[in-house]
Amino acid sequence: MEKLEALKKNFGYTAFRTGQERLIDQILAGRDVLGIMPTGGGKSLCYQLPALMMAGTAIVISPLISLMKDQVDGLVENGVASTYINSSLSGAELASRLEGLRRGDYKLVYVAPERLNTWEFAEIARGLDISLIAVDEAHCISQWGHDFRPSYKEIPKFIQRLPVRPPVAAFTATATTFVKEEIKVLLELQRPFEVATGFDRPNLYYSVAKPQNKLKFILEYLKKFDFGVVSHTGAKETSGSMGTSDGPSGIIFCATRKTVDSLTRELQQKGYPVEAYHAGYDSAQRKAVQENFMFDRTKIIVATNAFGMGIDKPDVRFVIHYNMPKNMEAYYQEAGRAGRDGEDSDCILMYAPADVVRQKLLMASASVNASVNASADDGGEAWTEFGMDGASFDLSSGIDRETLMHNNLQTLVNYCHTHECLRGEILEYFGEAAPAEGCSKCGNCLNTSQMVDMTVEAQKILSCIFRTNQRYGSGTIIKVLRGSKDKKIMEWQLDKQSTYGIMSAHSENLIKEIIMHLIAQGYIQMTGSTYPILTLSATSKQLLKGETQFFVKQDRLDATTVSKKEKL
Ligand code: ADP
Repeated sequence: MEKLEALKKNFGYTAFRTGQERLIDQILAGRDVLGIMPTGGGKSLCYQLPALMMAGTAIVISPLISLMKDQVDGLVENGVASTYINSSLSGAELASRLEGLRRGDYKLVYVAPERLNTWEFAEIARGLDISLIAVDEAHCISQWGHDFRPSYKEIPKFIQRLPVRPPVAAFTATATTFVKEEIKVLLELQRPFEVATGFDRPNLYYSVAKPQNKLKFILEYLKKFDFGVVSHTGAKETSGSMGTSDGPSGIIFCATRKTVDSLTRELQQKGYPVEAYHAGYDSAQRKAVQENFMFDRTKIIVATNAFGMGIDKPDVRFVIHYNMPKNMEAYYQEAGRAGRDGEDSDCILMYAPADVVRQKLLMASASVNASVNASADDGGEAWTEFGMDGASFDLSSGIDRETLMHNNLQTLVNYCHTHECLRGEILEYFGEAAPAEGCSKCGNCLNTSQMVDMTVEAQKILSCIFRTNQRYGSGTIIKVLRGSKDKKIMEWQLDKQSTYGIMSAHSENLIKEIIMHLIAQGYIQMTGSTYPILTLSATSKQLLKGETQFFVKQDRLDATTVSKKEKL
């Protein structure tokens, strides 16, 4: 059967989504593949369709019992002979499915990784005509990914013991360069064909805001919509508990439950139809809030990252991050709740240095507790599904993981300080090509603010880092540049440095801002985690020598002027 025909007949679709056809072609040609697509991007079809077209049975390795069942139910509904084998089955059911598998009754069989090397399954597999092995959520093999699953490491052993090696197709929505390389090496993929695609959400307008006052910014932003708010005088009005409310739906994510509660109160007092959601509320309350939102009784949800799992409201017009999340993947997922219906929607990330500090503290304590989900407020929900089939989460802690988490955070900090196209930054992060000329639809592409030449300032900062032997963090560097009389500075005799006080006319905030831009543009590197040290990069020399120029947008510089007097 031809591909498109099979697509139509078995799935009822008329066309492939981006990336699907290329991956399917390569699998059909017998090649290993690595497909990186966002959640909902259509990864399943990439192995289900070849499984149908190829002779034999496809083995699909999947980490979640609930997911296996859903997938198999869907396939069976479409008339595809398939089954799953996991610990949820009774003894008799298991025996009957294994027998069916032995007879070659199924085109697809879903298994948990723990099952692969059990004596019985491995023995049946060796006698089976296997069309392909699909590894779903392939990032689970990496200890550095966010849901490491030790039993994934058993997959290559299973494959090695097969009489004939079938093509191996790995899929994930998570792929920092590091995790991607780990997947290829640890799964022992052979010359894999790689596709990263589908991460672009053209209807989302990404922007970064650095307001002095976040609440004021939100109130100003909300003014552009009509929520039917009667007055802004502080009188308590409807909070959406009765009837439907006017205005668009939106979500405001905050880092802590406390911020959620206080921001909700502020917005309710101004009369907005808003409710709070976090893991501190009991499940009945959470369910009620969720339903009010789904049925448009509440328009705005202020929430921690506990909100959103399993919530799929198509017409969310804005997602604002009141605090910065812990990495680009978390941001992409959360911001991605906007505009599921394809209509234009805003994704605004608010940046404040304090949020970076908070994330770092969370990471440090997470590392101590050997917990990966540093800022999660999910009450454990995200993980309960994984607690099956004998899987234990052997989470490694220690400095390496911490450094990695800091690097991931830094990527997002850089996102907040770049003046490149924000959509491009996101796409490149996920391994896709950025739009060549910018997207002309993000905060940076639309920012008409003047570029200011900051080459001299940048040179002063770089020389200071160089002269102090690349041993200090930004706090110390700024103090030296501003000529601080700080005890430590005097003690370390940094006041004897030639760069001491050469930026005394500049504010601390301004220098900090320039440093952030230098990091974002790759002229400065940050090494170490808890106390990161600034070092020069391969390109800093060009800037120091004046071979290249360095610019910062005027509005970013303006935002650094604060009214209160700064102490030296
Ligand atoms: P992922 O595994 O990448 O999260 P899924 O495989 O579950 O995503 O696919 C998400 C949705 O997209 C499913 O409802 C699926 O049926 C649908 N889908 C996949 N491929 C296509 C296609 N070519 N045309 C239309 N819908 C598709």
